[in-house]
This record gives sequence, structure tokens and C-alpha cells, in this order.
Amino acid sequence: MSLKILLSGAKGRMGQAICSIAGEHGCEITHPVDLGDDPSELIAGCDLVIDFSLRDATRPLAELAAEHGKPMVIGTTGHEADDREAIEKTTSRIAMVWAGNFSTGVNLLFYLTQQAARVLDTRSGFDPEVIEMHHRLKKDAPSGTADRLLEILKDSRKLGEEDVSHGRSGMVGERKDDEIGSHALRGGDVVGEHTVMFAGIGERIELTHRATDRIIFAAGALKAAKWAVNQEPGLYSMQDVLGLQA
Ligand code: NAD
Repeated sequence: MSLKILLSGAKGRMGQAICSIAGEHGCEITHPVDLGDDPSELIAGCDLVIDFSLRDATRPLAELAAEHGKPMVIGTTGHEADDREAIEKTTSRIAMVWAGNFSTGVNLLFYLTQQAARVLDTRSGFDPEVIEMHHRLKKDAPSGTADRLLEILKDSRKLGEEDVSHGRSGMVGERKDDEIGSHALRGGDVVGEHTVMFAGIGERIELTHRATDRIIFAAGALKAAKWAVNQEPGLYSMQDVLGLQA
């Protein structure tokens, strides 16, 4: 029997991609909702909620899903810290897969970055920088995926948000050892590109993922949906879904 899904942001680019392949993944978008619709009237009839909308829409939807005991998959990015916290709280009641990027390749990039960062630690003399590029219509920066890559590097080097230099400009001085650079490029129709660079003296390592079709995110979100319905309440990542833990 196919999984009945309430999809928020159904008219958007990602929403349409999910609708176009849901059937192939044993899912049915029984409740497509978008701006102006009221999901509280529909939620009882679905098995699971998928959110690819706008950052302000996620928190009320997660609270509604928790109220009704519906597992949730969140793809929306760019949330403020207080919204993140409130959304995470709902996972005491429901299973939630929350990922800034649902592609298999990007989740492998996360894994490889964790491994590389372990070897190329602060004492190694390698300087980490994260570079991302997306289409001209993307509203938030850095991307959710770049945020996750920065988090992996911060955790590995025991650094904080204050150690991240976003798009240097002006007389910023020499690069510090305990610094991580972050750069967001925007233009054209680029679906999503991420590079983690470890720049050393005399050598440089670059780990790059290039997405050419957003269908990969849609397929990953549907895979996560099928997995989430069988999980206990809790917060899960796409790495959990793929069994890719460092
Ligand atoms: P989009 O602008 O094409 O679509 C967003 C849709 O959400 C629009 O149809 C809009 O009308 C709708 N919307 C706005 N407010 C809403 C509300 N209150 N309730 C319901 N719907 C609402 O954007 P997109 O490219 O489809 O991306 C959507 C989100 O997904 C963004 O945050 C983007 O960064 C993220 N994204 C995540 C991944 C991933 O793998 N996690 C991949 C691609 C995009």
C-alpha cells in the first residue's frame, strides 16, 4: 500500500519534483498544500508530512505533525536558531528526518569530510574552506548543505560560529589557523555545487559534489519518508537513512 503524504510547498520547484516521482517510490501525495492552504484540516488523513516550503512555515507544521503523531521529513533550509530548537523539541513525539540535503552523493560528501577533517586537523597545517554555488533564485546563504559542512569542520576542530569567516571583504588581515572560510556564489540555474577545500603548503585537497538535477533531492526525501514511518520518535539525518555514520 502506498504511503499517504501531506506535502507542504507542493507548488514549488522541489514540491513539483517530489510529485512527479512519488508513485515510483511507493508514495502518493494525497494532500498537496502550499501558501494559503490550511494543513490542520488535512493532516489527520496522511501517514507522513514532507516539508519543502519556506523557513517560517516549518515550525507550525512540525508542531501540528507532533500533535497528530505524524512522522515528518524536512527539506526546507535557512531556519533561525529559535525555530530550529522548537522544531527539534517535537522529535520527542515523532520520528523526523531533517536534512539540508537529501542526495546520496552529498551525504557521502559529509562522511568523507568527517574522515578528512579527522586527519587534516588544526595541527596539520591545512586550512579548510567551504565554497557553494546555487541558482540566482535561492533566498538563503550559505546553503543548508554548506552549513552542515561548516558544522562538521567546526565540530572536528572544536571551533565555534565566531571562527567562520563568511565571504571575506576589505582589510581582514592574514588567515588565522583556527578559521574556516565560507563562500556563497549565486547565479544562473545551478542546482547545487559544494566544495570542501583543505589548503596546505604545497598541496591542496578538494572534495566536490555537483548536483545537475533536483530530482536527486526528491528521490532522497521519498526514501527518507519510507524509512521514517518505521522509526521510533527522534531526530534523524539522511546519513542515518543511508547507514553512513562516521
Ligand atoms: P520554491 O520557492 O520553488 O518553493 C517553495 C514553495 O513553498 C512555493 O510554492 C511557496 O508558495 C511555498 N510556500 C511558501 N510559504 C508557504 C507556507 N507558509 N506553507 C506552504 N507552502 C508555502 O523553493 P524550492 O526550490 O522548492 O525549495 C524549497 C525549500 O527546500 C528551500 O528552503 C530550499 O533551500 C530547500 N531545498 C532543500 C533541499 C534538500 O535536499 N534538503 C534541496 C533543494 C531545496
